Amino acid sequence: MRGAIRRVAVESEVKTLGLIGGMSWESTTTYYQLLNEGVRDRVGGLHSASLILWSFDFAEIEAYQSAGDWDRATTRIVDVAQRLESAGADGLLICTNTMHLMAEDIESACEVPLLHIADATAVAIRKHSVKRPLLLGTRFTMEQDFYKGRLQARHGIEAKIPEADERAVVHRIIYDELCQGEIRPESRAAYQGIIERAMSAGADGVILGCTEIGLLIQQEGLEIPVFDTTALHVEAALSFALEPEA
Ligand code: GLU
Repeated sequence: MRGAIRRVAVESEVKTLGLIGGMSWESTTTYYQLLNEGVRDRVGGLHSASLILWSFDFAEIEAYQSAGDWDRATTRIVDVAQRLESAGADGLLICTNTMHLMAEDIESACEVPLLHIADATAVAIRKHSVKRPLLLGTRFTMEQDFYKGRLQARHGIEAKIPEADERAVVHRIIYDELCQGEIRPESRAAYQGIIERAMSAGADGVILGCTEIGLLIQQEGLEIPVFDTTALHVEAALSFALEPEA
């Protein structure tokens, strides 16, 4: 019937994910792509991920981080988590390792589950029987307890961190380059050097504990297993989004 609108009621069985992103958008685009590709690969046809994305202006968030104003950062992120829940998200993802610092605040403020990036990573680490992984990330993730502590307390994984001068290099490259879309061979070499020194000291795996590091470092060329937190977080989110309702 020409001209008439054919209405088809399609009830999607894919759960809706609320993404707290933009930290930075360089890795949020990876989340968006991998989630959509994952649903297409698993379900097929025209199926794609059902997503609600809040993308922060990262300059605002970075200003709170560098000033150590975690209270203000927590208020902003919890508010966004609640907005995503009100908008219909069935589960929440914080698309950065660092801002899992306020994961527990989100868990108390929202009814829907928060899919924690460290838990998703821990499952893969245990599957590979890795015991002493090197943790690379922002200085907040490497030095504070919210991430290493969760790996240790909930999963029995003792993550190691680089030396202080190496941590400064890892942190600087994240903010000055990766979050600004710059991928430099000399920075890749610097990360590889840090990983190799950690291997000599007994590291048997490496956690890319910042969602942009996968843009610089991949498994290829490294002899120990590489755990890309972005990809592992997406895998956990896909399992959640596609699992049938209990
Ligand atoms: N995306 C990064 C992470 O996974 C760093 C940016 C941020 O501080 O949120 O930690």
